[in-house]
Amino acid sequence: MIPLSVPCLDGNEWRYLKECLDTNWVSSVGPFVDKFEQLIAQRLGAKHAVATSTGTAALHTALLVADVKPNDAVLVPALTFVATANAVRYVGADPVFIDVDPTYWQMDPQLVTEFLERQCRVNNGQLHDRATGQRIKAVIPVHLLGHPVDIDPIIEISHSYGLHVIEDAAESIGAQYRSQAVGHLGDIACFSFNGNKIITSGSGGMIVTDNSSWAERARYLTTQAKNDASEYVHDEIGFNYRMTNVHAALGCAQLEQLDSHVSRKRAIARRYLKAFEQLEGIEPMRQAPWALCTYWLFTILVAADEFGMDSRQLRQRLASLGIESRPLWRPLHLNRPYDKGLRFPVSERLHQCALSLPSSPALSREEQAHVIEAVWGALQRQSNSRAQRWHPAHSRLQD
Ligand SMILES: *Cc1c(COP(=O)(O)O)cnc(C)c1O
Repeated sequence: MIPLSVPCLDGNEWRYLKECLDTNWVSSVGPFVDKFEQLIAQRLGAKHAVATSTGTAALHTALLVADVKPNDAVLVPALTFVATANAVRYVGADPVFIDVDPTYWQMDPQLVTEFLERQCRVNNGQLHDRATGQRIKAVIPVHLLGHPVDIDPIIEISHSYGLHVIEDAAESIGAQYRSQAVGHLGDIACFSFNGNKIITSGSGGMIVTDNSSWAERARYLTTQAKNDASEYVHDEIGFNYRMTNVHAALGCAQLEQLDSHVSRKRAIARRYLKAFEQLEGIEPMRQAPWALCTYWLFTILVAADEFGMDSRQLRQRLASLGIESRPLWRPLHLNRPYDKGLRFPVSERLHQCALSLPSSPALSREEQAHVIEAVWGALQRQSNSRAQRWHPAHSRLQD
């Protein structure tokens, strides 16, 4: 089976893990936790990084430090992994969904602007959703699939209304927006190092911000809100969200390989793009002119009428050939906890048509040729009139 995305652990992972065991630093304090935070902050040029047990915990904590309160509302793209919206619910607030743009599939800045200008009103200097009366507190642009959101216009309009911008960069470490690293664009950002992300600590997350009091508060809340550690004094309800030294050891080893993973993923993407550019009914994901995309999961749209089968049929066919693929998330507004009968047509179309293809950094050329041939082969089975055949030469591109 060619998997969708598996970790690539061929650096210093063993060495650093052994160091944890040899030195007895295996829990949520230790030199690798500090080092991982420093390396991430340094890489992004940010003042602070706070390691967490998961990306979801990072989002939850970021919402808490950005002072999002029960019954507030937070703008979230309709198409994202469910954790983005769940974190909003963890603080007692509600997500307001915004559709994504049809070209790059990211939160649509124009729709954010339209919502804030037309559906909201300012009351005593606070912005409220006209429909629900809820105060809008923050916006969470999500950099999906390794591609940055067009975030400048979102930051500009959000700040003009006093809203905080919380980047969900869980899928996109290493990506750039106008030559700047994602995760250091808004007021605070969250990363994930879960097993299927471009680099992994097994499980883990990171909060990144230049705001010193937010960083300090994030550290306090993620470590059980200890006001006095020896006397066990707690002035607030905290969380056990701290990353362990073992996870951070993996994270440090993986971070050393981030640039190589990004270039391998981009090489994989170039071969897919080249192989599919002539294929009727297949529309691959694209990189915006202002973006450096890491192609975390290389994703295609399947137009059923042109291609002769829909994305789910193609998925089955690939599975029968030993190739794993996966649709994008069901848009959040169609999941029971978030279903208010609203429609977001672009997100819904993407969910219907999208299929992510094997994208592990270690995917071999032979494996990728097998995937490409399988997609081309699916088309030929449908229609003999399409004489064109994919040839391995199509993928013989310069890396
Ligand atoms: C993976 C992911 C998360 C959650 O990260 P975990 O480490 O799995 O908790 C949040 N948001 C997005 C967009 C993700 O892809």
